[in-house]
Amino acid sequence: MPKKKKIVVKIGSSLLANSEELTLRYAFMSGLISDLAQLQKEGHDIILTSSGSVALGLNMVGKRPEDAGIMDKQAAAACGQPLLMNAYRQIASEHNMHVAQMLVTAEDMEERRRFLNIKNTMLRLFKSDIMPIINENDSVATRDLRVGDNDRLSAKIAQMVEADVLVILTSVEGLYDRDPSDADAKFISEVEDVSAHLESTTGISELGSGGMLTKMQAANMAQNAGVETIIASGIIERPVSSVLKNERRFTRCLVTGETASPLKVWLSNRLQVSGTLVVSDALANAIIAGDCGISREDVISIQGDFTKGDVLHVYNEQGTEVARGLTNFSSDETMLLARHRDMPVEDVIGYKTRSDIIGAENILVLEENHLPIDAPEKDQKIVVPM
Ligand code: GLU
Repeated sequence: MPKKKKIVVKIGSSLLANSEELTLRYAFMSGLISDLAQLQKEGHDIILTSSGSVALGLNMVGKRPEDAGIMDKQAAAACGQPLLMNAYRQIASEHNMHVAQMLVTAEDMEERRRFLNIKNTMLRLFKSDIMPIINENDSVATRDLRVGDNDRLSAKIAQMVEADVLVILTSVEGLYDRDPSDADAKFISEVEDVSAHLESTTGISELGSGGMLTKMQAANMAQNAGVETIIASGIIERPVSSVLKNERRFTRCLVTGETASPLKVWLSNRLQVSGTLVVSDALANAIIAGDCGISREDVISIQGDFTKGDVLHVYNEQGTEVARGLTNFSSDETMLLARHRDMPVEDVIGYKTRSDIIGAENILVLEENHLPIDAPEKDQKIVVPM
């Protein structure tokens, strides 16, 4: 048997639900699950990231996709998710396959301990040949703390389990160099540097929340994590095995270069910001140049309500994100330490500990292939008096 692979498959709402009736596309689901069951029998571990809860729940809350507000969608997700899982469970049982549901939020992915718990649960499910079906827990996620789209969620999951491949199924065949409705559009079958394509891709699908842009962002995250991404049409028989066996056209985003350590990959693939620090340009350059942490003398301003162990995004004075790292202090402690630079740490915060805000070993210098997150607005920052 060929080497067993970890395969993450992502299915968008437009494949799962009819855009008019907002009901399940049962035939599609059946074909998909039969293909995945076969791959599982061949020994592969499979995770399915499935959208569809919002689209399928809208009828119950009496809304159409175009006029549903955020609360309607959260309620619709609560209605649609059991419909979705019920269908998956029924179809999977016809193929003697077991499935499990995992609903996660952006916060779960961004907090290191919860991230590792999700990973361990998935690894345990694999041991019993159960396929986890993952979706964002839309009903509990607040607007600011949403992953937002399942493309990036699936990339996070792929990174988490160190998958061999992420297969994003959609309604188009893959990536084109411009709008595919343009007669001159050329199909791109292989992408080396995903970040080079981020600019040319826009567009939102009718039912889901992503378009080609979020697929490229997901591929970029996966690439940084050493995971190959395949973007392919899902409207075909054996939608996953036909791409894995190279039987049709699709876009492959290759893994290039060396992959960083799991901690650094986790730091690079962030979905949300819990806090930020602005440091002097001189220090920002020193961080970029090499092994250098951030001490309290270096902090110019602080933003966010964070706790010890959260990830801080570090900006230079121009507002360019230069690094990310795990903080050794909460936002209140960081503020006190930065304001009382001359006092011993113990006298400021009441316990003895190291004095650097972010240690050099817990810092990731952002490179071109990482997606920066914009600096917060000026009025959200608290400036540390010099
Ligand atoms: N979590 C949403 C849902 O299940 C979909 C998000 C997306 O399609 O990107 O409907």
